[in-house]
Amino acid sequence: EAVVNRIAAGEIIQRPSNAIKELIENSLDARATSITITAKDGGLKLLHIQDNGHGIHKDDMPLVCERFATSKITQFDDLASVATYGFRGEALASISHVAHVTITTKTEDSPCAWKANYSDGIMVPGKTGATADPKPTAGNVGTQIMIEDLFFNVPIRKKALKSSTDEYNKILDVVNRYAIHNSAVSFTCKKAGTNSADFRSNPGTTRDAIRQVFGPAVAKELVEISQSNPGLDVELHALVSNANYNMKKMAFLLFINHRLVESTNIKRAVDNMYSTYLPKNAHAFCYVSLEMKPQNVDVNVHPTKKEVMFLNEDLVIEFICDTIREKLAEVDD
Ligand code: ADP
Ligand code: MG
Repeated sequence: EAVVNRIAAGEIIQRPSNAIKELIENSLDARATSITITAKDGGLKLLHIQDNGHGIHKDDMPLVCERFATSKITQFDDLASVATYGFRGEALASISHVAHVTITTKTEDSPCAWKANYSDGIMVPGKTGATADPKPTAGNVGTQIMIEDLFFNVPIRKKALKSSTDEYNKILDVVNRYAIHNSAVSFTCKKAGTNSADFRSNPGTTRDAIRQVFGPAVAKELVEISQSNPGLDVELHALVSNANYNMKKMAFLLFINHRLVESTNIKRAVDNMYSTYLPKNAHAFCYVSLEMKPQNVDVNVHPTKKEVMFLNEDLVIEFICDTIREKLAEVDD
């Protein structure tokens, strides 16, 4: 069974940046306002995340790495969205099958922090401890998760990875995107053993966050869009290039219901639309956030599932392109 679980986990978590995406989302779910990520060897030796969110209760600690253990389904109603989300309570479980996991966490009402080690879905004794129970320790309210030796037991997965530098850049890219989508949260990303951060965002507007990632020239020209489509039950919030600025390569950041996703169809349609505005070989910057009914979207299938699926795709794409086009025309006037 351990081998089967490991193979399944290696499908879900294929590289360090998949793990960090899940960990960041957990920190955001815990209402963290400050998130610090540290990586060693592109996240393979060490992947560490520290947040100031609400923490995990000591009593819940034995469960967090168990498959399908989630604290996020509280009402019977939620079951409808669970069916479509498909992926719940599997992230930490999967990670614990392919790495050594240590969690240190403190809730507001606990007098101290608690630390526990995990392996293959269950709490295990730490390097020094004889028992598997959480051990009291010092710490602030929030959670620290340490992932060590990712894929130590999945050599094939490890071989398929690129260089540490490439893997680290993928981590940085995920952090950058979440920092833009969560501009009120301060994010830090650094390599272990260094004091200087490779990225640090200060809380501000979405445009501020884009400036911090892509620079002032990109941020300055962006047009902000907020538009809802009651018929489709879709809300669009976006910051996109006006017709003046161009990137060498299209930068396309897409969030659906606050999850970072990819959609070749949306991206291609928006890029095509821009080609009528921009000079040949010029590209746009687009940050697009969509909110739709959870039942209408399948964003959460797998951390690695590249393409998002949602209802009324053609109509939603038309709505996005029309809205951007109208806004660009307005700005032009
Ligand atoms: P899910 O996010 O789908 O619930 P995960 O495997 O990602 O599943 O996490 C399992 C559980 O661990 C969460 O439901 C939550 O209760 C707890 N958890 C994980 N990370 C954090 C965190 N940073 N802060 C507080 N609770 C956390
Ligand atoms: Mg999660």
